[in-house]
Amino acid sequence: MSAGGTALHVDWTRCRGRGLCTELFAERLARDEWGYPIARDGSGTRDVPVLPGERDAAADAVAMCPLQALRLVER
Ligand code: SF4
Repeated sequence: MSAGGTALHVDWTRCRGRGLCTELFAERLARDEWGYPIARDGSGTRDVPVLPGERDAAADAVAMCPLQALRLVER
């Protein structure tokens, strides 16, 4: 059974850790000590939950990532 809802998937193999996405989607993303985006809730997941009201901010982060390291997924 799927968990349901939308998530922001982070591909850390593409990311270079400059942190732009953490500014665009600060509701859910924080930076680790090297600048890589991590879930603000501390869960360590690479599929960060996106609430319906946060979808535009998450989509902006996807669009602005210079390395195509982010995508929205349905769970
Ligand atoms: S915007 Fe993209 S490259 Fe920059 S920190 Fe976020 S995921 Fe990584």
